[in-house]
Amino acid sequence: MLPELSDDERQRYDRQIGPGVLSEDGQRRLKGSTALVTRVGGLGGPAALSLVAAGVGKVVIAHGGDLESPDLNRQVLGSEVGLGKLRAPQFADGLRAISRFVFVEVIDHEPDDDEADELAARVDIILSCPADFEHRLRLSRAAHQAGIPFIDAAQWGMAGSLLVSDGRTTPCLACAYPEPPPFEPRFPVVGAIAATMGNLAALEAVKILSGTGRPMWGRMLVIDGFRGETRQITLRRRPACPVCGDQPPATGEKISTSSPSTSVLGV
Ligand SMILES: [Zn+2]
Repeated sequence: MLPELSDDERQRYDRQIGPGVLSEDGQRRLKGSTALVTRVGGLGGPAALSLVAAGVGKVVIAHGGDLESPDLNRQVLGSEVGLGKLRAPQFADGLRAISRFVFVEVIDHEPDDDEADELAARVDIILSCPADFEHRLRLSRAAHQAGIPFIDAAQWGMAGSLLVSDGRTTPCLACAYPEPPPFEPRFPVVGAIAATMGNLAALEAVKILSGTGRPMWGRMLVIDGFRGETRQITLRRRPACPVCGDQPPATGEKISTSSPSTSVLGV
């Protein structure tokens, strides 16, 4: 049964309920939903912010480490006063300050395989925003095992990509990247493209969770901001995919995620 909206919530979401946006039931579906955003830096921070503002009932954020000065060119949940302090708790406080209607759960590290599975079992969607491919692949696998939608956002320089999978029938991240992209530890990135891709991930999540519009199932959007070009790729599911292929690993067997990894776009 869908949760009811209070009068205060109806007032808060007044501009996004109506023709061309969400129905009231869609808004109630958002309220009844839980989203996991891992990590909440340049990509995931704006994504989490938009999910909280939109009224997703519970937003779980996971991110380890302290906030550093070079983060502030893109990590919009951070500020000067938070430098040198753990990221996740201060980011969660910032999100809570945006809306009293949303419960924000904070995890101050990136989940390992087991925790990713545990999280996937209790959320409705995963927004994958880590920089490294190992974590992205882990989240994609967890989403597929749980059968929940999975959105992966990635960035490099002034470029970004967005992949949307239903976690069941459409291609997963491992289908899109048969080989892990090349490794680059401190890749360049401009905050504007990070926020763009993060917000597009949030938009897809809002559509999916509320039942609004047409999600980009099975497609990847690539934005080359450097050249001012965009393109969409219809992904194909690989029968031999180790995550979602015809011969998935036996129960309990983990997909190897030890390969070199990066956020570099591989398409
Ligand atoms: Zn696959």
